[in-house]
Amino acid sequence: MQNTAVKKKKKDVIIEINEAWCKGCAICVELCPEDVLAMEKGKVKVVNLEACTACGFCELRCPDFAIVVIDKGKLSKQDE
Ligand code: SF4
Ligand code: SF4
Repeated sequence: MQNTAVKKKKKDVIIEINEAWCKGCAICVELCPEDVLAMEKGKVKVVNLEACTACGFCELRCPDFAIVVIDKGKLSKQDE
């Protein structure tokens, strides 16, 4: 099951969470410096996408590859 959050803000970022793979370890929630993520019913949820800096820590540290961060600003090179 795919849960995709897309929203316009200063960082044009998409966070994709594959809930089927997420085991609810909360590593990503604890690592995120911006409190973008939170646990809900044993799965991770994007709760504050506007604050995401696309640092990629959550994706890097997820042991189950359940979270993917796509920095669209980087792709299109339109960063302010
Ligand atoms: S680190 Fe991965 S498996 Fe753990 S809660 Fe986050 S998305 Fe789920
Ligand atoms: S990319 Fe960085 S700021 Fe964004 S949710 Fe992941 S850890 Fe948090």
